[in-house]
Amino acid sequence: MLLIKNGRVIDPATKTDATLDVLVDGDRIAAVGPKLDAAAAEVIDASGWIVAPGFIDLHCHLREPGDESSETIESGTRSAARGGFTAVCPMPNTRPVNDNASVTRFIVDCAASSAAVRVWPIGAVSASSKGESLAEIAAMKQAGIVAVSDDGHPVASAKLLRQAMEYCRSLNLPVIDHCEEASLFAGAVMREGDQSLRLGLRGMPAATESICVGRDVQVAALTGGRLHIAHLSAAESLALVRQAKSAGLPVTCEVTPHHFTLTDQDVGYDSRFKVNPPIASRADRDALLAGLADGAVDAIATDHAPHEPARKDVEFDRAPFGMIGFETALALAIDELYHSGRITLPRLVELFTTGPARVLGKTRRLAEGEPGDLTLFSLDHPWTFHAAESASRSHNSPFDNRAFRGAPMMTIVAGRVAFRR
Ligand SMILES: [Zn+2]
Ligand SMILES: [Zn+2]
Repeated sequence: MLLIKNGRVIDPATKTDATLDVLVDGDRIAAVGPKLDAAAAEVIDASGWIVAPGFIDLHCHLREPGDESSETIESGTRSAARGGFTAVCPMPNTRPVNDNASVTRFIVDCAASSAAVRVWPIGAVSASSKGESLAEIAAMKQAGIVAVSDDGHPVASAKLLRQAMEYCRSLNLPVIDHCEEASLFAGAVMREGDQSLRLGLRGMPAATESICVGRDVQVAALTGGRLHIAHLSAAESLALVRQAKSAGLPVTCEVTPHHFTLTDQDVGYDSRFKVNPPIASRADRDALLAGLADGAVDAIATDHAPHEPARKDVEFDRAPFGMIGFETALALAIDELYHSGRITLPRLVELFTTGPARVLGKTRRLAEGEPGDLTLFSLDHPWTFHAAESASRSHNSPFDNRAFRGAPMMTIVAGRVAFRR
């Protein structure tokens, strides 16, 4: 039993923002209220901390099976717990691809024996994510997937997307798309603009993403299926999502901490800044900040993408896309969104909890009877992120050595303390 005393409880689902105690008994929340008592419980003094429902990360790469030198389900979820996440959704681009129930079962079983937080796998849209025929989506759903995506690549054609959305509608699964128009992407390594010209690196325009978002929104309208745009990075893409929402379509989107923090002016020849979609222009970044504030963006997702040094620490051109992100996500959000005055605290919590839950068709509430998943964090704890000290097996972060004010302090999953600072 855990008794969390005197924290500021913020729960967007119940519109709570008050100093309260939370009692967790077994794997469930037993009570939320003022001045609770439980003689047998371990007491956690949360004075000065925020007590929130457990954070959910809709988008990450845990690399297992197949790439265990970069990450495992065990190391990745330990890193997630250090970042305040109580549930993470790994993308299917493992080796083999999670495109059938036996791979899904492997991930679920491995998580049951080694994961620090809940693992909700995402299955592939197409067999081997090759974009030709649908994967075994119904069987994967039986085995535990919460969504489908061919992340790493876009869903290959409007026809395949239509098939997937029609199929997933009956299964009540969202289709998550990594939006990218292949002919514009063509070998690019960063965002096209004066910075790519200055560096002499091949760039892709923002339209690489937004053309595909436009296609997807029209297919969502055609099918009535649930569409979620992964790592949205361009103003025009967000404008299309806004239009879709105001037309009443079930279209949602996520933004990563690196896309709301950095601009292409921060990108040099350092391969730690190489991500896909690439770090955007200032105007695009400002549009993302506006969407995070006003509700157009549904969730913050990390796209945690570990790569071992042997592959990532090479010339910008040759390095793979991606950066790790679990342990800096909340601190970046506190710094860039909350301390800057751009968003309120309940909105920040929403972007990590009820927002991503809604995308998955789940609920997330800090209330009696709900799962004992809680994220406790501080808005002013001073600390410095050192990538080498991360629980991840990889250290590819451009935020290495960045000093922060605000941090995850304790992560509780199913009534157990998964991380304490
Ligand atoms: Zn992607
Ligand atoms: Zn990804």
